[in-house]
This record gives sequence, C-alpha cells and structure tokens, in this order.
Amino acid sequence: MLANKKTKIVATLGPTTDTYKTKLKMVKNGVNVFRINFSHADFETAQRQVKEIREIGKELNIAIGILADLQGPKLRIGKVTDGTYLDGGDIFTFTTKDKITTNNENKTAYITYKELAGDVHPGEIILVDDGKIQLKVIKTNHIDTVTTKVIEGGALSSKKGVNLPNTKISLPALTKKDKKDLLYAIELEVDWVALSFVRSANDLHEIKSFIKQNSNYLIPVISKIEKPEAIEAIDEIILATDGIMVARGDLGIEIPLEKVPLIQKKLVYLAKTHQKPIIIATQMMESMISNAIPTRAEVNDVANSVMDGADAVMLSGETSVGKNPVKVIKQITKIIRQVENSKLIKIPKIPPIPEKRDERFISEVICYNAAEIAKDVSANVISTLTATGFSARKISARRPMSYVLVFTANKRILNKMALFWGVVPFYYSKMSSTDDTIKDIEKIACRNGFLNDNDMMVSVLSMPVDKKGKVNTLRITQV
Ligand code: PGA
Ligand code: MN
Repeated sequence: MLANKKTKIVATLGPTTDTYKTKLKMVKNGVNVFRINFSHADFETAQRQVKEIREIGKELNIAIGILADLQGPKLRIGKVTDGTYLDGGDIFTFTTKDKITTNNENKTAYITYKELAGDVHPGEIILVDDGKIQLKVIKTNHIDTVTTKVIEGGALSSKKGVNLPNTKISLPALTKKDKKDLLYAIELEVDWVALSFVRSANDLHEIKSFIKQNSNYLIPVISKIEKPEAIEAIDEIILATDGIMVARGDLGIEIPLEKVPLIQKKLVYLAKTHQKPIIIATQMMESMISNAIPTRAEVNDVANSVMDGADAVMLSGETSVGKNPVKVIKQITKIIRQVENSKLIKIPKIPPIPEKRDERFISEVICYNAAEIAKDVSANVISTLTATGFSARKISARRPMSYVLVFTANKRILNKMALFWGVVPFYYSKMSSTDDTIKDIEKIACRNGFLNDNDMMVSVLSMPVDKKGKVNTLRITQV
C-alpha cells in the first residue's frame, strides 16, 4: 500500500533523482508530482525522466503528476572569474553591451536583460545571489550601462540570479527560452505547467493562448507568486490561473522576508476559496540537502503548511541535488501524516459558495455539501465520477475528513489530479447503471484499502452515468 496522506508532495527532478529506482522509491514513500525545472533541465534528460515516471505510474498503478516549471523572466549575470569579491562602498557597473567576464579589476558584470538601463532609476536596489549582495543604482545611461554602489558586499560567482525588487521590469512574461521549453513540455504531455515571476492576469492570458495555439489539450497553468506585483494583482491572477505556488525563494528576496509567512497564509486561504490548488515551495527541508534529519524549524514549517490546508509541499534542492532524496521524502511524509492524523487539526473552512444560478450551480452545491454530509455520516470515502476533474477539485477544496476517490475515463486528467489535496485518482471507463457503478467503485475502494465492511461512502455523480453530464446526484451507501 502506498503512503496514504492527503497533503501532496511535489519533488524536483535533478542529478540525484536520475535513476528509475530512486524515483520509484520516492513515489512509494509519498511523492505525488515530479517537477522538471526548465531553468536547468535539458531536453533529453527531461524526456527520459518523463518516460520513467510514466512507467513507474504503470508499475504501481497510481497517478503521478508531472509539472514543467518555466524559468520566466529570470535575470542572471554572466561569467565571473574565481575569487572576485565586492566590498561595501565599491562602485560596480552592469552592462548589457558585451559579454565580458567579471573580475576584481573591471568591476563590471554582464547581465542578460537588455532593458536594464532603461528600466531602473537612481536609488533602486539590485540584489545578486539570493539577495546576498546588495547594490544601489547611482546612475544609468538609459542605453546599456548602469552604475551602482555596493551596499552589502560578498563573493561573486558566475550566472548568479539578479532581483530588482523596486523596479518594474519590461521583459515579457514568456521569454524565447520559455516558448521553446513550453513547446517541448507540450510534446512530453506534462500534466501541469508553472510560470515563474507572474506579474498580472495578462501573463496568464499570454501563456494560455500560446498553449491553445500549440496543443489540443489545454495544459493547466500554475502561477508562481514571487513578485510584489503579483501580490498586488492577486485577485485578478487567482481568477485567471489554474493554481498557484508560493515561491518563497524569490518572494523572500523581492519583498521583506518577514512578510512571507502571512502572505503564505493569505494565499492558501484565497486558493481554497477559489478552489484552485496551492503549492508551498522552497526551503521546506533545506538542511536535508546535506543532513540526515531536518531542523526543528523545518518540521514546524511543513506541519504548518499541512495545518493551513495547502494542497502540496514542494522540495527543490532537497531532492534534485540533495544527498538522500528518498530519506527526505520519508521524513516529510512522516510529518504530514502525523499532523493529518491528529484529531486536533482543524483546517480553516472556506466560505460558502455565492448563490449564482449559472449552469454549474447544481454541481457546485452538491460538491460543496458532499464534505459536510460525509462528516455527518462519518463516511470513509467520498467518491466522484468525472470527465473534466471539476467535481474532484470542488470536493477537495472543502478539505473533507474522508479521502476523495476520483474515477475518470479521461486519461489526460488522471495524473493532473494527483496534485489535488486528498484526491486519489482512478482510471475507470465502464459506463453501466448508477447502481452498478457505485457497486464497482465500492469494490475498487475496498480493494485499495479505503473501505471495509459497514463503512459509509458518499458518492457524487451524474445520472444517467453514460450521458457523462454535470454532477446532479449524491448517494450515501454502506458497504
Ligand atoms: P525556483 O522557484 O526554484 O524556480 O526559483 C521557487 C522559488 O522561487 O521559491
Ligand atoms: Mn523562483
């Protein structure tokens, strides 16, 4: 039996997850979704990884999601000679003209962002290497050169990331590289795409129309929230996106660190209210990149994300380059299960659905109330039959006490649903009568250890089953 838990785990692929065996062990111990980080991934490796993950899914007969993470408008410096050091008070220059190599003499870095000199203003801050090095803009020639003063110095090395927390960056949401990577992700038939540094709902419209032009299947998009502009525009972003990621790495550089925890809480609540999945990312088990056990603070951080009711927690370096990715998964699964199994845990409830009599109204009401009814009858399972994943998402968002078993004949959405809180997707293509379908579902739930004799099940489905219509029926049965 697989590690049963409701909060999902997203694990980033990398050199240390390269073998089939490692990924198999990771899945057996709780990974639900693998992330391909296109900031580093090369196509051939990604292709092999995807193939192996699909095989693991077949071998274990479970849904595993694949998330392709696009780099977005990430800024980086060019090459740097070893031993280059910036001292506080130094004058340091950024240029977009020549791909020069930085050293202690020239004190000039090439930056991969042509509009830099036009976008920045004197007084604005430039951060390098996760904010470790801080510089202040003194002047710009508005063409290709920006002069700065070092506020916080440090050792500089090649290709480090650059953040401009005060500057409105005029780069497009989807860079040339992103388009290339996205076409490749479409070819690989990934289940989710994540876009880095989302700033507005427009960015979502742009990527979605690109996907529409290039794919028959509309791959759902996760917005990575890591810019102050995204926080300001969150109410429009949440409507346009299919899910969000609290990308605490860059977010903690772009806004004051101490603001991140409350923003995280706010985003989890907002995502649940809009019934869209939310992933908490970065430094969850960071110390396990090199250590055998996490810090107490990390255990607390994971536990708090579970208590808030996030859909998933994410691992980056911990699995992609960490010393022992399987151990990390075992540890994080233990934390998740410990918290989820406590009777003390009450995940904050989302507000009731607004009364709007649109075409989905009946389905919405049934899904919304299935969780409540399941609690009243102490049901072990809520099951739903879906062709689109709509009901799975809606029921999951209520964070019910029961597992949500989702049955679908739509292979394209099966692995996507592995990300949803509490959802266990099953492939199911038989279309018989409602009674037979429920009996069938009951059998599958029993076989997989979710139901025993006399247990209660709440089923949400559409009658007649073979019409594949919108959810219109709620049934309570006892095994
Ligand atoms: P990244 O995104 O790992 O792609 O930078 C996550 C984050 O910024 O937290
Ligand atoms: Mn990031």
